[in-house]
Amino acid sequence: MQRRDGSLFPALVCSAPILEGDKPIGMRSAIVDISDRKAAELQLIEAKEEAETANQAKSDFLASMSHELRTPLNAVLGFAQILQLDRQNPLTTTQNEYVDGILDLAKIEADQMVLSPEDVNACEIVADCIALSIPLGEPRGVQVIDNLCRGPDVVLRTDRLRFRQVLLNLLSNAVKYNEAGGSVTVSGEVKDNGFVRISVTDTGVGIADEDFGSVFQMFHRVGADPMKASEGTGIGLTVTKLLVEKLAGRIGFDSAVGVGSTFWFELPLASNAEVLIWTEDLRVAIDAIDRDHQVIFSLFNRVTHHFPDERELDGIIGELIDYTRAHFKREEAIMETCGYPDTEKHRGAHQLLTERVVALSDTWRRNRDLEDFYVLKSFLRDWWVGHILHVDSTMTDYAKGRETDIRAALESLI
Ligand code: ADP
Repeated sequence: MQRRDGSLFPALVCSAPILEGDKPIGMRSAIVDISDRKAAELQLIEAKEEAETANQAKSDFLASMSHELRTPLNAVLGFAQILQLDRQNPLTTTQNEYVDGILDLAKIEADQMVLSPEDVNACEIVADCIALSIPLGEPRGVQVIDNLCRGPDVVLRTDRLRFRQVLLNLLSNAVKYNEAGGSVTVSGEVKDNGFVRISVTDTGVGIADEDFGSVFQMFHRVGADPMKASEGTGIGLTVTKLLVEKLAGRIGFDSAVGVGSTFWFELPLASNAEVLIWTEDLRVAIDAIDRDHQVIFSLFNRVTHHFPDERELDGIIGELIDYTRAHFKREEAIMETCGYPDTEKHRGAHQLLTERVVALSDTWRRNRDLEDFYVLKSFLRDWWVGHILHVDSTMTDYAKGRETDIRAALESLI
């Protein structure tokens, strides 16, 4: 409609006839200016379109990501290996180390890191790594001291090679970021939660408080001076952290500028039957499921680490339950897509687990009785290992060659 000044406005006109008996003698109308409502409607439409565009962009991104995820990583793996195998153009020792770092990172990120946990004498590995680190410190008079092997033997349940790699990396950093004439000390402490904490303490440059958050970030080099760029790449600690976590452990550090740093990591004792370490025999060969299982294992292990801090523990148990629910949804979508014949039975098992875990965690929260906590943990541990080995593995054959359908099914869940 038109206002007196000639401008237009949207109007809602409601009319009804005025009747005299059955005879219409006029019309009663009400005219409402609905400019505000129209503006709100327009905003809603715009917001909806914006959300749809964002959602589409997200779907496109995820679709290309899940497709591309494997290809470039495989390319990285392949090319890195070619670099190392090229006899005509051999890499220098440093270049070889960098390539090893990138290979590890790509393997972990693509969930292709194969671990072989076994009983490992910590002292043997520590002594070995210290022997290798001493020459690194010699040019600058940095001493490397072994305080761990003075104590009783400590046997870990871990991957020998990866444990060595973790320790060597911390030792080489402790030497590299040390002052001339400084020292590096390795010590060990058996904790009462079934873990051993191995600490590498240096008397080096230290790390400023504001850099604490970025130390484990990929390619991050704290206070990186381009002149010193040849000293490292900033992936050592990223790989180290990922490895420790794959080994059911955790890593951290403490540091003060000008005083030095202590980097520590904790790995499970051989006697610790509480943790879950991912091994190849648990692989179902359906990427999305294997990835989920590994996340569930690491959440499960965090429950152990954060014991006995009840509040933190409740948070992680909650996270574990939420993640498990989302995982079951994904797995059930995959089962349906692949025409897996036991879908209903399998779904029933998922349902039972969810109910049982929620009930057990409620009991633990209510009573705070240690016994309840252990029941919850051992139920979860036994259930997962058994379920993956005996039930999830029966999906493998049905999923073969269905990667595209699986991807589409998973995308439709987002
Ligand atoms: P790189 O040593 O190759 O740079 P890392 O991932 O091993 O990469 O370490 C990341 C950063 O953390 C380093 O650049 C360094 O600034 C800091 N850092 C690591 N270890 C120590 C240490 N023991 N003392 C001081 N700073 C350290």
